[in-house]
Formats: sequence, C-alpha cells, structure tokens
Amino acid sequence: MPAPIPAPGSAAPASAQGPGALRDRHGRVATDLRVSLTDRCNLRCAYCMPEAGLPWLPKPTLLTDDEVSRLVRIAVRDLGVREVRFTGGEPLLRPGLAGIVTEAAALDPRPEISLTTNAIGLDKLAPTLVAAGLDRVNVSLDTLDRDTFKALAKRDRLDATLAGIAGAAAAGLAPVKINTVLMRGVNDTEAPALLRFALEHGYELRFIEQMPLDAAGVWRRDEMVTAAEILDALRAEFDLVPDPAHRGSAPAETWLVDGGPAKVGVIGSVTRPFCGDCDRTRLTADGQVRNCLFAQGETDLRGLLREGASDAEVAGRWREAMWGKLPGHGIDDPSFLQPSRPMSAIGG
Ligand code: SAM
Ligand code: SF4
Repeated sequence: MPAPIPAPGSAAPASAQGPGALRDRHGRVATDLRVSLTDRCNLRCAYCMPEAGLPWLPKPTLLTDDEVSRLVRIAVRDLGVREVRFTGGEPLLRPGLAGIVTEAAALDPRPEISLTTNAIGLDKLAPTLVAAGLDRVNVSLDTLDRDTFKALAKRDRLDATLAGIAGAAAAGLAPVKINTVLMRGVNDTEAPALLRFALEHGYELRFIEQMPLDAAGVWRRDEMVTAAEILDALRAEFDLVPDPAHRGSAPAETWLVDGGPAKVGVIGSVTRPFCGDCDRTRLTADGQVRNCLFAQGETDLRGLLREGASDAEVAGRWREAMWGKLPGHGIDDPSFLQPSRPMSAIGG
C-alpha cells in the first residue's frame, strides 16, 4: 500500500524519505522532478524531433506559469522533491521561465534548480536566470562541426549554442554540464574532440546513449552507439580510470580523465540501465505525471487542478502515480513498446 496521504494542512515531511514521499512498490523514492515547460523547440535533433516539427500541444492544455509553480510547490513542500530540473522541448522558449525559477527558489526547503537546454539565447538570459535562483545547467552539444550540426539539428545554430554555453559559464553556472548523443554515421567520430573541448573549458561532458524516444520511431538497437563503443573511442586518446566517487542515483557512470580531477560521464540508459536507482518523477508541459520516461500511462494533474482540487488531493494523486512505477524500462524485452510521446514532449 502507498504511504498514507497526510490530511490537508498537515506538516511537511521531515525529509525526502518522510511519510509524504513519492515511493514506488519497488522501494524507490522519487526526489528529482523533471518539469517540461514546452514541447516546442528551435532545433530538430534527428534523435528527438522530425524536421517538420510535431503537432504542438494546444495552448489551453498547457499549464500556466501559476499552475507549474503550484505543482512544483506541492512536490517540494509535500512530496519530498529536492531537485527541480526545467526542460522541454526547449525551456528557454517559455516566456515565464525566470518567474517560474523565482517561485521555485522561494520554496522551503529550497530545492536545487537546474535547466536542460540547447543554450540558444542563454548568453543573454543566463544572468537573469541566475538572479532568479538557477543553480546549474546541462547543455546539449552533439558536435563541434558546423555542417554536422546543420545535418543533425536541421538548423545552422552551432555558433549560438557555443555562445550560450560560454554565457552560462560567465554567469557563474558552474560546472556547466554538456550532454552529447552520438548517432552512427553522423557524429560518432567526434567523442574525443568533444572531450578535448570540454577539458579545455572546464565543462563536464556526459555521453547519453540514444534511446527509443524519437518521434519517427526509427531507433534501432543494433544501430545505436553503445557506451562500450564510446569508451573505446575515448580510450584511444585518453587514459580513463573508473571514478572512485559513489555514483548514487546519478545516471552517469564517470571516469577520471588522464589521472583527474577532470571527469567524463557515460549514461548507458540502454546497455547499462540504472532503473533500480531511479529517483525521477516527471511532469509534462500539459500537466501529466509520468513515473518513467518509458511509461505507457500518465496521470492527469491539470484536470485535477482545474476542477478545484486541494493541494492534498493533488499530492495524493501524484503519490498514486508513482506507486505504480515499473521496475525497469524493458527496452530489451520483446514486448517493449516505445511511448507514444517523443522525448521533446515528455521532457528529457
Ligand atoms: N532542448 C533541451 C536540450 O536539448 O537540452 C532540453 C530537452 S531535450 C529533450 C533533453 C535531453 O534529451 C537532451 O540532452 C537531448 O540530447 C536528450 N535526448 C533527446 N532525445 C533523445 C534520445 N532519443 N535518446 C537520448 N537522449 C535524447
Ligand atoms: Fe530540441 Fe532538445 Fe529535442 Fe534537440 S534534443 S530537438 S534541442 S528538444
């Protein structure tokens, strides 16, 4: 049975493991909330979104800024969430982003607040976001070659992305983490160059295995670049030693580069799954809770909010949603079904 739902107005849990926490029946507790602020994007990365875009979520179905802030407040105050990451689609396209960050930063306990972004425009926005309370950014960068960027993201925006990354660092968002997805025959020879770039600038690079979350549904297990291949490519140029620091619930396995302290991470979501340690809960831009990236079902919180539900009722529905989380993503299971929403509409 899920933990009992506290009565309205009852005290907040003493810790993230407390009575109100987001537990599942496999013993995991979700303390890390991913909030998608939009399904729209100004890039079209091939592993994520088709070049023509997607049928965007209708505006009335999107959570308003106040609704987002209310749900984040319930998650932090009543459900033990300790980290809030804003994502999308491209979260910098959300006009109310700074206000949403400000509201999250005013919560008690104060959650850690981060952003996953393609960094286009971040050079201009970073100081405002830092002033609002943003703590960290993860930026997606898959290539340092302009033509490859155009081929992969279908837009000629490499310079804008690099300016955004530099702007984030200049605004004090350290360490800047860089996320890279490698695609065979597109950018899979660039792993060492991207690591050199990250080392030169003091950024933390993490490679993410490509997952079956593309809108076109063309992902193929036998075509994806695996964690083992990425490590082999890096070892051709760098000395990698497993990082003795405890991984905890972090998805990235890390290696010390050339004796450290610099590190590189590999998130082997497909070939080295970490579902047993997952501490994530996800909220889509249209107010649906997903207990896993690969969940087939969602729980509607937007409808509940708009029917006038109390915070305690919303929290109770969220707990129920998490209780049913499956033990693993099952990508290797013959019965695996790709979720109907692509990554851009779930929030990575
Ligand atoms: N637009 C922002 C960005 O690109 O960082 C935030 C949203 S994006 C969906 C979040 C992360 O998901 C990015 O790091 C992106 O590389 C990753 N991603 C998207 N589709 C993916 C896929 N099919 N497999 C693995 N990672 C993916
Ligand atoms: Fe946009 Fe991010 Fe998806 Fe690329 S990965 S298309 S930047 S949402």
